[in-house]
Amino acid sequence: MEHNPVGYCPHCNHPSPQRMVDEFDLSTRDVQCGFYVSECQTCKAPIVRAWDEGDQFEEFTELNPTWPSPARLDFSVPSRIRRRYEEGCNVKNASPSSFVVLIGKALEAMCTDKEAAGKDLATKLRNLAERGIIPEVLTDVSHEIRLLRNASAHDGEEDDVTAADAESIDQLFRALMEYVYVAPDLLRDFQAKRVNAASRKGARKAKPGIVS
Ligand SMILES: [Zn+2]
Repeated sequence: MEHNPVGYCPHCNHPSPQRMVDEFDLSTRDVQCGFYVSECQTCKAPIVRAWDEGDQFEEFTELNPTWPSPARLDFSVPSRIRRRYEEGCNVKNASPSSFVVLIGKALEAMCTDKEAAGKDLATKLRNLAERGIIPEVLTDVSHEIRLLRNASAHDGEEDDVTAADAESIDQLFRALMEYVYVAPDLLRDFQAKRVNAASRKGARKAKPGIVS
């Protein structure tokens, strides 16, 4: 019987059996590396996983997919937003317009989290831009997402949103999340580490003085 180990599929956004299609060992005398191409047995889409000498694994499915990049947001993004996004990713390939609708809901969740003032998404986003929570350039992004979402939510024409539109919206939405949540979180982490390091240094220096 064919052995199809279970691994995360970024297309389905959940674990599924993966059939190995091909493997490439690109190792040279100096560098060990290569990649695997597999087929998800649920959605039949291809997945690429790269490895190098730092990776230890028994099954190739233990490696994180290199392509497509996993549909996950950083944990610094509030769970309500992440949930909407992941729901969207589950339907992105089958229905780009449903994906855009769910991205719109994720934007609404961001507005709620940031206590945006306004009666609809457009005014709320403008409010966030005025308060400097989202940058001016990303207000346009949010605006595009809103327009596409309205188009797909209101006239029911599935074809209005193409797979390419969904892909662009995906990338822009992720950029917005990086700006609003991920970068500030990284900065807080970095500052906390510096404060800790400084206080450890201070404690070491202070020690000799404690003797008296
Ligand atoms: Zn799949």
